[in-house]
Amino acid sequence: MKKKTVEDIQVLGKKVLVRVDFNVPMQDGEITDDNRIRQALPTIEYLLDEGGKVILFSHLGRVKSEADKASATLAPVAKKLEELLGKKVKFIPETRGKVLEDAINQLKNGEVLMFENTRFEDIVGKKESGNDPDLGAYWASLGDVFVNDAFGTAHRAHASNVGIASHLESVAGFLVEKELRYIGDAVDNPVRPFVAILGGAKVSDKIAVIENLLKKADKILIGGGMAYTFMKALGFNIGTSICELDKVELAKSLLEKASGKIILPVDLVVTEEFKADAPFRVTTYKNIKDNEMGLDVGPKTIELFAKELKGAKTVVWNGPLGVFEFENFAKGTRAICEILANLKEAKTIIGGGDSAAAAIQMGFEKQFTHISTGGGASLEYLEGKALPGVEALTDQEPCDCGSNCECK
Ligand code: AMP
Repeated sequence: MKKKTVEDIQVLGKKVLVRVDFNVPMQDGEITDDNRIRQALPTIEYLLDEGGKVILFSHLGRVKSEADKASATLAPVAKKLEELLGKKVKFIPETRGKVLEDAINQLKNGEVLMFENTRFEDIVGKKESGNDPDLGAYWASLGDVFVNDAFGTAHRAHASNVGIASHLESVAGFLVEKELRYIGDAVDNPVRPFVAILGGAKVSDKIAVIENLLKKADKILIGGGMAYTFMKALGFNIGTSICELDKVELAKSLLEKASGKIILPVDLVVTEEFKADAPFRVTTYKNIKDNEMGLDVGPKTIELFAKELKGAKTVVWNGPLGVFEFENFAKGTRAICEILANLKEAKTIIGGGDSAAAAIQMGFEKQFTHISTGGGASLEYLEGKALPGVEALTDQEPCDCGSNCECK
């Protein structure tokens, strides 16, 4: 069932609770990447333009004790938002109580406030992360309507998404709507050929994604650390490369099920030490020595992957093809960015997490159809799982024809 979005509700004069994902990377109190804040701007600006009284909240990092509070405050995020929005953002350093309630009651139409990190409620009894019903009910009591625009936490049932949504009319923000449309369409309704690229460290994180995509994609290109478990399954020596021995049998059965759909690297960049400046060489998958580990795909693999991607109309990519954090082993990941950037007729979608970080860091941010803001959430969506934060939103009303058709 389709969910209501911000465009389906009237917000003039209403107190609009908006769950955003402002879980941004920070270093020494400075935001190092404000992408998630920028991605939330369309929803916030729309609600303000429509005359809503906007109340923003988010989690930031993990908060286990009072000592974590100083580094997990959302105060710098409120400042950054104020700068990006060009508008006063009143920051309330509380997650409940009279100060917060008074500030909300004093908001005028078109004004915005942000309250403190929702995970401050996790210090005593994991109230936020454990979806404490009283906390969800309390936060819901602060507003008239709820907007969820936090795709990054949509795979979790927390008090600040599922909890609130069980008490109020609840709709998707533009970002959540966009994420569901791009990832959902790619997986459920892809224009073919549909090619998936999977990398990253471990097979175990992506088993369910591979299984789901085997049913849907035309080809699955596998690189990164997870490729070695597959190569081991085929009986090749992988030296000291990263490998999950307990997943070798599973990799074997996935390869059998795939009947040629899975494409593995044919050459690799290997080294003896996991170090940025370690000497390295390129070798084929048959010639890795006992004391060598593969940290990137080689040039022949890049050529092969480029050939497989030629003519693709839908591409989903999750997980870097090598240890991109070390320049010497970043070539495969950069090459995939370049290949995808040049697929002008394809919809190119990057799941969140490390591949998104790599693509942005390498300067390709604007060259993909969509870069997801949610690592875990996009993985679970690619697995074909329902996301609790989305499921909890209010369903669209059926159209006049009486059925839940697409004519709305
Ligand atoms: P994930 O979070 O599963 O997408 O994994 C991302 C991590 O995988 C990155 O930190 C990469 O450095 C790492 N990675 C990619 N390729 C390899 C490899 N061949 N060996 C070890 N780690 C790798």
